[in-house]
Amino acid sequence: MKRYPFLDLGDVTAPLRDEIVAAVTRVIDSGRYVGGEECAEFEKELSAIAAPCCVGVSNGLDALRLIFRAFIELGRLKPGDKVIVPANTYIASILAVTDNDLTPVFVEPDSDTLNLSDANIEAALTPDTKAVMIVHLYGRATGSRQLADSLRSRGILLVEDNAQAIGAKTSDGVYTGALGDAAAFSFYPTKNIGAIGDAGSVSTPWPEVADMVRALANYGSDRRYHNIVEGYNCRLDPIQAAILRVKLAHLDQETRHRRELARIYSSGIRNKLIALPLWADSEMVWHQYVIRTDRRDELIRHLDANGVGWDIHYATPPHRQPCYQRYASLDLPVTESIAKTVLSLPVSRSTSPDDARRIADIINRFN
Ligand SMILES: *Cc1c(COP(=O)(O)O)cnc(C)c1O
Repeated sequence: MKRYPFLDLGDVTAPLRDEIVAAVTRVIDSGRYVGGEECAEFEKELSAIAAPCCVGVSNGLDALRLIFRAFIELGRLKPGDKVIVPANTYIASILAVTDNDLTPVFVEPDSDTLNLSDANIEAALTPDTKAVMIVHLYGRATGSRQLADSLRSRGILLVEDNAQAIGAKTSDGVYTGALGDAAAFSFYPTKNIGAIGDAGSVSTPWPEVADMVRALANYGSDRRYHNIVEGYNCRLDPIQAAILRVKLAHLDQETRHRRELARIYSSGIRNKLIALPLWADSEMVWHQYVIRTDRRDELIRHLDANGVGWDIHYATPPHRQPCYQRYASLDLPVTESIAKTVLSLPVSRSTSPDDARRIADIINRFN
């Protein structure tokens, strides 16, 4: 039987193997194994599709943690402050908030986009809201210039978790990662631009925020042996930076491929038991293609029987995780219904357009 893997990272890397080997070799031969040219060039190249100041860091969670810590060090936030967060997200978004002793205020997503909408953010604001985190989940750009302006005029910070949506644009044409006061990128291997290991970046329009993030990520030092804050070691590895420069140069191709598969699924799947994701063009880079069904367990058995890989993002929302027992009593019915009904279909470079057409047919036979 033909198998359709959900994601095969070896297949994703294979077409770029020679370029990647050349990039890694460049780093080996340079004798510069922390920081240096590759990191600086990668930051410059990323800024073309992010905010102007980019700081490469160790991973996406660290990017988020460093952003909140930087705002605390800069006096823009203090421990205990309330941060609006989407209840439907990967747990890392929330970990960055609680790790800094900030208070997450869980807000239900819009049930069509599965993301926070401007309207549900506005409705959740209170006089003690100090920051809003939007997560461009599944590769769908959320928020708008109007939201950013409206928050800025009230002194509320806007932080973007852009781990899943590199290269997407909001409906009013702003790149995700260039909308708010700071954004976190993840280059975890499964993301649209993936390293061969862990990597991440912060981007921000504010040089003082970038400087603070860079210092925090480097033991808190602003120059050699001079420590202005109690920092960490969260630097971007130059080998990963060199690899990411190769990947970034192919981002348009990556996005085009994902959009083609999404188009095939969205036009090919015709099954009244399946709800398709809300269609969007430039707002969507399809980190995941997420369908919904009330009969998920049966659909999974059908996919398994036909060799189709799948995944669930995410079966347990953050407030239901054992580590967050203190939030377990929150009443978040939209988020809980999303967790019970979502299913992700293969949408990476390891799936061909023909595969996607066959997967759509297999799903159409589910009854
Ligand atoms: C992957 C991811 C992160 C964390 O990034 P890492 O690089 O894995 O630490 C944070 N938020 C979201 C929404 C993610 O998908």
